[in-house]
Amino acid sequence: MIVILKPDIDKTGPEYLALMEHLTHLPSIQVRRHEERGVHQVLTELYLIGNTAALSKEDIQGLPGVDRVVRISEPYRVLGRHKDDSRATHFDYNGVRFGQDTLNIFAGLCAVDTPQHVELMMKALRDNGQVCTRMGAYKPRTNPYSFQGHGKNCLPYVFELAGKYGIKVIAMEVTHESHIDEIRDTLKLTGNPTGVMLQIGTRNTQNFELLKIAGRQQDFPVLLKRGFGITLEESLNAAEYLASEGNRKVVFGLRGMKTNMGDPHRNLVDFAHVPVVKRLTRMPVCIDPSHSVGSRDRAPDRLLDLMHVTAQGVIAGANMILVDFHPAPAKALVDGPQALLLEELPHFIEDVRIAREAYEARVKLGDRVRAE
Ligand code: PEP
Ligand code: MN
Repeated sequence: MIVILKPDIDKTGPEYLALMEHLTHLPSIQVRRHEERGVHQVLTELYLIGNTAALSKEDIQGLPGVDRVVRISEPYRVLGRHKDDSRATHFDYNGVRFGQDTLNIFAGLCAVDTPQHVELMMKALRDNGQVCTRMGAYKPRTNPYSFQGHGKNCLPYVFELAGKYGIKVIAMEVTHESHIDEIRDTLKLTGNPTGVMLQIGTRNTQNFELLKIAGRQQDFPVLLKRGFGITLEESLNAAEYLASEGNRKVVFGLRGMKTNMGDPHRNLVDFAHVPVVKRLTRMPVCIDPSHSVGSRDRAPDRLLDLMHVTAQGVIAGANMILVDFHPAPAKALVDGPQALLLEELPHFIEDVRIAREAYEARVKLGDRVRAE
């Protein structure tokens, strides 16, 4: 059960103290507090965990300081969509809105290699009106002898160049707690020229200790990739780990499933789950066409499979696109063969716009037909 308190309730005032006194003495019930600091107000939610079936929603609703009560039935207590649940399905970070009704493109380098390539990428994004990117500094690799990413050494120039070109959010994978500290320290050292969305990769979807650490901090939102060999439910539970620790600025990423049934694509494209995740949870949903398709193969209509697949995700309502680009793919140290070229960026953005418009038209059509 979620007890949503009146906005800006004074936590030292008699109303709040009386409410807590009552709730903490309920038998077999634990109370967990979550605070959401918005620009204009602080929202406090209390999660009642335990034998809540025995509680009356009306009684709790009548307690001092309570705005409303949501009874939750699903396992995703914090991130799930529950009946009569009007909590927000978006969050703002560094001036960018991430919601189930927005769409942000994160085009960028799979792995940072040189400052020149980073600058060319950032400049192309700025010239095409983009404020988000992806930049891999810490690369989890299958082979221990493969390039592992430049790590913290590249962070100062990546952040400074992002600031120079007006990039507000960089998606960056982390695989260890120390990476989060390095990102935080370097941002501070360089004067916070940009923002970072921590990415937890498919190999770490169920790394529960990493999830708890990324969930305990609230400086950075988190993009959690779906695990490539586990069920959707297991991956959604992994997202809930982040939220249950306090960070609900979570985006859920689809990146294809590992199976030969997807051949010749690198993974079996799973973007049919975009509307499913939006229905089950309040998270914005990201698609990663690059790691799903893994090649630059084209259909007979001359369009890249990568662009077809992106359009499929967007027309189904995706809210974020994580996509590999590179100024010189032949020189890329990771995933060059699946990278789009900088000169393909305007085409890609326009193709996404067409698919997004089609999605919006489909939603309107559905509403109209139902109203008739
Ligand atoms: C990536 O986005 O660079 C990546 C490694 O993705 P995934 O974790 O989905 O394989
Ligand atoms: Mn990659």
